[in-house]
Amino acid sequence: LTVADIMIRDPPAICSCATIRATAQAMIEREVNHLPVLHPDGTLEGIVTSWDIAKAVAGEHLMLAEIMTRDVICVSAADTLREAARILDQHHISALPVVESGRVVGMLTSEQLSNMAERN
Ligand code: SAM
Repeated sequence: LTVADIMIRDPPAICSCATIRATAQAMIEREVNHLPVLHPDGTLEGIVTSWDIAKAVAGEHLMLAEIMTRDVICVSAADTLREAARILDQHHISALPVVESGRVVGMLTSEQLSNMAERN
């Protein structure tokens, strides 16, 4: 199986120009813990998780650009689920943006991987 088989397609994303409050609101509305952060031109600029929001509140930050992670670890839709699981484990992270030609086409989370493992 590959990432394409279980990734969330066209996932919710947020602009790097957003405030932390707007980011938190988007996470609640879309019921996600991870959002890819996009430059206004649509390319991937970072990732933000609910953990980062907690850190932002503790540190009294205002803008998303101050707290997002800029070195994003990504996968391709054609990568195997085994490889994606290894990357998540190795980096102690729980979500991977799926990128094709610089564009985010999906998200793969450890939650989806474990749901799939339970079903099989
Ligand atoms: N267990 C939590 C988790 O999996 O998100 C927290 C640990 S993890 C070290 C937290 C940091 O990893 C956050 O600052 C988050 O922005 C970052 N992070 C999450 N997914 C990432 C990814 N695909 N690439 C780079 N950093 C990522």
